[in-house]
Amino acid sequence: MGRCIVPEAEDILDVEFPVLDKGFVRLVDYMGSDQRIVQAARVSYGAGTKTRRQDAGLIDYLLRNDHTSPFEQVVFTFHAKMPIFVARQWVRHRTARLNEISGRYSVMPDEFYVPEAADVAEQSRDNKQGRKTEPMEAQAADSVRRAIEAVHEQAYAGYQSLLDEGTARELARIVLPLSLYTEWYWQIDLHNLFRFLRLRLDPHAQREIRAYAAMMRDLAARVCPLAFESFERHLAGGVRFSDEEMAALRNMLNGEDSGLEGKAAERFETKLAEGRQI
Ligand SMILES: Cc1cc2nc3c(=O)[nH]c(=O)nc-3n(C[C@H](O)[C@H](O)[C@H](O)COP(=O)(O)OP(=O)(O)OC[C@H]3O[C@@H](n4cnc5c(N)ncnc54)[C@H](O)[C@@H]3O)c2cc1C
Repeated sequence: MGRCIVPEAEDILDVEFPVLDKGFVRLVDYMGSDQRIVQAARVSYGAGTKTRRQDAGLIDYLLRNDHTSPFEQVVFTFHAKMPIFVARQWVRHRTARLNEISGRYSVMPDEFYVPEAADVAEQSRDNKQGRKTEPMEAQAADSVRRAIEAVHEQAYAGYQSLLDEGTARELARIVLPLSLYTEWYWQIDLHNLFRFLRLRLDPHAQREIRAYAAMMRDLAARVCPLAFESFERHLAGGVRFSDEEMAALRNMLNGEDSGLEGKAAERFETKLAEGRQI
């Protein structure tokens, strides 16, 4: 019952998996596995892991009932490279530990995020925080991409000339835009990774951070596949119903109308149809 070694995870340790145009995620290290969750949960009984089916059942029970502490026994260290605007969203998750590249110490490389044409879209009208789901038509998207690249070139030339004049790196960097790539080591336990993934895999999260969340989910799932099956079932794939929505569900099961109206009815229908909160 010593260190957990998971061959599927060992295979991908230190491999850079590309995300966006110049970013990546790499699993640097892990501690624990599905077995560790089971051991931690069963410690009070002195019994270790049983059959895979029993272990899966226990993990599912724990997650379903918010017995979260055994999931904190599994820890991941990722190395990720992402645009600064993604890092700004990511860093809001306070339960991780991180070390980021220093623009005071190092000259920042000329690497900026330029969205693919398929990711260039107009401002959404109904969602003030997001873009439309359908991309701009090809020519318009191309012109947006060129405009973004032109700003990058100008900003990096300004940065370079400030450095050439002897300006301190910590000052010269302030002319660089949010699309500049940064990188960090990020360490988090499984319970808090689930919280992060639940928010950042959601369609309300910005598409760019979703791409990182999806990659981290795939890498972490190699370490503890049973826990991720339960995550998909209860946290990612599940929705919360309020007490009035529960009453509406009971009405419908009795063959009656939901009894909800207006915005409440709209929210409820979206939950039923799309399996997501709004
Ligand atoms: C779609 C989307 C849009 C968003 N838009 C905005 C926005 O417009 N503006 C904005 O500012 N933010 C925004 N956020 C960020 C959001 O408000 C949260 O800060 C972020 O999602 C992190 O969530 P968290 O606090 O649950 O995570 P964590 O910081 O990981 O916290 C996890 C849990 O631990 C608790 N916790 C963490 N640290 C402490 C502590 N020191 N003391 C006590 N309890 C603690 C938290 O209460 C929480 O329950 C957005 C997030 C999403 C997903």
